Amino acid sequence: MAEITLKSLAHTYSAAPRCDADYAIREMDHVWHQGGAYALLGPSGCGKSTLLNIISGLLEPSSGEVLFDGEVVNALPPEERNIAQVFQFPVIYDTMTVYDNLAFPLRNVKTPEARVHERVMEVADVLELTAQLKRKAKNLTADEKQKVSMGRGLVRDDVSAILFDEPLTVIDPQLKWKLRRKLKEIHQRFAITMVYVTHDQLEASTFADKIAVMYEGQVVQFGTPRELFETPNHTFVGYFIGSPGMNFLDVEARDGSVWAGDTRLEVGRGVHATILRADSSNVRLGIRPDFIEVHDEPLEGSMEARVEHAQDLGTYSIVYLSLGGVSLKARIEEDQKTPLETAWLRFPDERLGVYVDEYRVEIDHE
Ligand code: ADP
Ligand code: MG
Repeated sequence: MAEITLKSLAHTYSAAPRCDADYAIREMDHVWHQGGAYALLGPSGCGKSTLLNIISGLLEPSSGEVLFDGEVVNALPPEERNIAQVFQFPVIYDTMTVYDNLAFPLRNVKTPEARVHERVMEVADVLELTAQLKRKAKNLTADEKQKVSMGRGLVRDDVSAILFDEPLTVIDPQLKWKLRRKLKEIHQRFAITMVYVTHDQLEASTFADKIAVMYEGQVVQFGTPRELFETPNHTFVGYFIGSPGMNFLDVEARDGSVWAGDTRLEVGRGVHATILRADSSNVRLGIRPDFIEVHDEPLEGSMEARVEHAQDLGTYSIVYLSLGGVSLKARIEEDQKTPLETAWLRFPDERLGVYVDEYRVEIDHE
């Protein structure tokens, strides 16, 4: 088991890279601590698979170092890195039985046959493959094949880490949920460092204690699901996490107030001061739909908005609002009244984020 450190790591598939956009991984530093259950979350094409393949040694990075417990492993081939990797599509031997497929990674490192048997039975039990052990892998369903593939990744308990690259893509939704829980159980039982790649925030937050959100070849935030929700570091995290994502308003400070276009906003002095000192023309105010206060009458410090429409989602509604032409979404719980035409909004100061050039900045508290 190991702590995995990525140091000034960058990768490009291009022979003559000219700009940042030519890099699948833009120079980054990151540490996966020993024994953690992590998710690597980001949209398709952001560099997740590239990053995993660099860790496992399938891919040599263009620059930078990969360290396991402080030792540089760049020169080590995959088989010497002691990493198990599970891919999106099953990697199994069709002509072997399920048992032999599961036993393969253990026999490969000369595990005594009694121990092989013990582990194969244990993993088969967890993945509910016991009844299929004697069958040839080629006769399995797609779901079963992927379970065998996952089993091959889980069967060794002496690996440095297990990397999962969107392993449940081909699995049916009901089973998906169950397998994710199993993975979590396995992690708790064996405390092996696990990195689970997904583009699904729900999948990430049910599996992981900590999530690395990746965007355009960089980890833009590494935090608990709660941190990503409450204090997104980057506008992309605000937008990608939560449903719907965070509201962002282009703002500027002038004439002693904060404005979104021609709309004057009611915000606290600290937020105002922070926007005033921002040395950029790209300044945005972020607030989650969950945190906008929506009232059906004017209150001190409230802003009048038009209700465009509301979407009833059972236990809550999403209300689409126009604040002087700026579109906003707010989430209203079922026990709260939804205003029909006009609403008065308040932005609680402690729920606001100020983003300069897409990154969150500290709010000045005088
Ligand atoms: P993800 O797994 O997050 O979907 P990838 O790591 O597969 O992202 O891809 C990151 C970027 O690198 C994408 O722009 C993709 O098109 C590019 N890429 C991935 N693999 C290759 C390759 N073998 N050759 C060239 N470009 C690649
Ligand atoms: Mg991928």
